[in-house]
Amino acid sequence: MSDRPDYPQTDAVRIQANRSLHREHSVPIFPTSSFVFDTAEQAKALFAGEEEGLIYSRYGNPNTDELVAKLCRLEGTEDGLATATGMAAMFASIAGLVMSGDHIVASRALFGSTLQILATILPRWGVETTFVDGTDAAAWEEAIRPETRMLFAETPSNPGLEIIDIAALGRLAADRGVILNVDNCFATPALQRPAALGAHLVTHSATKFMDGQGRVLGGAILGPADLIAELRFFTRQTGPALSPFNAWILSKSLETLSLRMERHCENALAVARHLEGDPRVARVRYPFLESHRQHELARVQMRAGGGLVTFDVPGGEAGGMAFLNALSMISRSSNLGDTRSIATHPATTTHSRLNEEERLRLGISPGTVRLSVGLESVADIVADIDAALDLQTE
Ligand SMILES: *Cc1c(COP(=O)(O)O)cnc(C)c1O
Repeated sequence: MSDRPDYPQTDAVRIQANRSLHREHSVPIFPTSSFVFDTAEQAKALFAGEEEGLIYSRYGNPNTDELVAKLCRLEGTEDGLATATGMAAMFASIAGLVMSGDHIVASRALFGSTLQILATILPRWGVETTFVDGTDAAAWEEAIRPETRMLFAETPSNPGLEIIDIAALGRLAADRGVILNVDNCFATPALQRPAALGAHLVTHSATKFMDGQGRVLGGAILGPADLIAELRFFTRQTGPALSPFNAWILSKSLETLSLRMERHCENALAVARHLEGDPRVARVRYPFLESHRQHELARVQMRAGGGLVTFDVPGGEAGGMAFLNALSMISRSSNLGDTRSIATHPATTTHSRLNEEERLRLGISPGTVRLSVGLESVADIVADIDAALDLQTE
């Protein structure tokens, strides 16, 4: 995967901010809030945009600029912005482009906070969203109105791992003159490149697989120069800037992203196949299992199936919680995309704000477990799951 011709692995490793006078090999961190002007005339030229250069770290910093340059190469976009969290990226990429009276169409299987932005926060400012079953192409088309400005999709979805056809949405967006915004957090550019399939904006929580080691929060918006220029105006004023330290961590992480994703996917597929063979477990969901409803589409759109596996353990809510408690190695946490495997019980945590019917529509039963498969030896991951199932079903 890491040596495939359409993935710029060398740039993921080699793109680098300018070295300092010390000629250090690893790029330094630039913890500075502002940059000095040689002359008052230079300050004037920089502010007027007549000269290129750094002014203030809310606008840009060598570390965030390096990260954005890498992400643009990986996603195949002209320009981008780095943000302090994934949610800052989701919010800015939507709020920075819409105005009162505009309409959005979004898949209903969205990350919880993204759903809240669209369902609760933006309506206060007169921006309405219609939620559709993201896997139903006709539903997207029917929901578009004259005032629709954006289509927002997340694929694979959390935690149901449904796949949305990005190329089909890209054609629809182009045809109807609306912006297609795709949250590519679960797949990362190592597995899926939405811009090549017609997405205008690609948004990220860099907190997950991009950092991949559970250390920092971060986010990014990648896209064409004109949209990013509009969004840059918004983020410069509203200030969701990423810190230089976190940008440095994330840029380093990108050097190994494709290698890590390769192993996450290999381990996750092995775990999914193992679980499919266990009669105690129901509804094993993984995009690269032949039994996945959209297996064919996943194979067209994604390089591999990703690092998450979702399945149902017996015993409903109590059973799901007992399974988590019976794990000895796998961590109980709500994060995902870490080197360490993590189990989550969506019904009582990440999706507890929804009612039962809403959860069922997203593929969440009381006994559903979401597993973020890490980089431990797969035999140890499987052994921990088996032991927990043994204990739980005793
Ligand atoms: C975690 C996540 C986010 C939010 O990112 P933060 O970095 O936690 O703000 C958005 N979308 C998806 C799909 C996520 O998994």
